[in-house]
Amino acid sequence: MKKLINYILNVIFPRECLGCAKNDYLVCDECLSKIEDYNGEKVRPDIVDRVLICSSYKNSLIKKIVHFYKYKYISDLCYPLSQLMIKKYENEKDKISDPIVVSAPLSKKRFNLRCYNQAELLAKEFSSHFNYKFLPDLIIKTKHTKQQAKLNREERLLNLKESLTLSNCEICKKNNFIIIDDVYTTGATVNEIAKVLKDNGAKEIWSLVIAKD
Ligand SMILES: [Zn+2]
Repeated sequence: MKKLINYILNVIFPRECLGCAKNDYLVCDECLSKIEDYNGEKVRPDIVDRVLICSSYKNSLIKKIVHFYKYKYISDLCYPLSQLMIKKYENEKDKISDPIVVSAPLSKKRFNLRCYNQAELLAKEFSSHFNYKFLPDLIIKTKHTKQQAKLNREERLLNLKESLTLSNCEICKKNNFIIIDDVYTTGATVNEIAKVLKDNGAKEIWSLVIAKD
């Protein structure tokens, strides 16, 4: 039923660019190209070795697109958003070899509410563009956690602690990974994923996100 509602929303949602209201686009190429690169504070590597950020969450168009993507169920926005990721990564791709792509998982409860995992759709588009292996089911969320957006830094770390596991530990050994997520705030989510991967022998781990809050 939810899937049907999602489908209908995608069809009846007026195809007007979220930036300039031009018809037949969710986000037109011109508006997409005007989104400035992220030039805010650099993210200090923690467990993740490198964090690539496409844009700032202070950019009003980015904020609007991500909001519609996550909370208004317009899943087709994964196409323009993944274009930003592809563009950001293009210049860096020679610095990591054969990475495996994973995405931040959702708990079953949240997946049932939204019917899609927004990070997974982005990761799928991104990995198929570069012909990388994508393992959507590698990272498993073992408990339903509170929404990170509603918590402070300490609560976020505590909230995620030991909430993740892997469906296959062998695959980690000596492989490089890219973790795809939508918004980077404190980095608690991507670092928790990186920890599980590194505990199981992963080598270099990057994260690629749409925006930094
Ligand atoms: Zn536009």
